[in-house]
Amino acid sequence: MSENKDLEVILRERGDSQCELCGSTSNLAAFPIFPHDDETPEHHALLCDVCRAQIQGENSELDSNHWYGLQETIWSETPAIQVLSWRMLDRLRGETWARDILDQAYLADDILEWAKQAPEDEVEETEEVVVTRDTNGTELNDGDSVTLVTSLDVRGTSFVAKQGTKVKNIRLIGDPDNIEGKINNVTLVLKTKYLKKV
Ligand SMILES: [Zn+2]
Repeated sequence: MSENKDLEVILRERGDSQCELCGSTSNLAAFPIFPHDDETPEHHALLCDVCRAQIQGENSELDSNHWYGLQETIWSETPAIQVLSWRMLDRLRGETWARDILDQAYLADDILEWAKQAPEDEVEETEEVVVTRDTNGTELNDGDSVTLVTSLDVRGTSFVAKQGTKVKNIRLIGDPDNIEGKINNVTLVLKTKYLKKV
């Protein structure tokens, strides 16, 4: 708690008790700049409630009138402010004035790199889709039919599933190496490396 307090005090000094992006004084608070989540002022900006709401509302329409100040803040001596300014201008790229500022702006390489680490990137990485493929690399989907490319001893049963056995209506289980299918009315987990899509 006291750590947070210190942070805000430092930021208020740096930002002259104004929003470091738009100059407003309403509901100022320390705002962490992705991907950092420490308590250092270098990784925070002092922002008003309007700026915070617009920055966090990834898909909401931006009020471009609110953001004309970016033409000055993009030249800030504080990297954190440059980073935020660049990100907002990038989101406003559809507007000529924002694009013009971006074209003229100069950010040091490491600051530009930081600016380009948009939160959306992280979301995409975690939403990686698992693709299940058969032994030939063909994509498998729920409901597909496959045949066994080798005979398998079926654990826990007395039968051997012969090479060429057809397995209809398979089900994916979110694991690229295994699927579920029925052989002799027994539901089994089958290794995709032993399967070929029909
Ligand atoms: Zn603001």
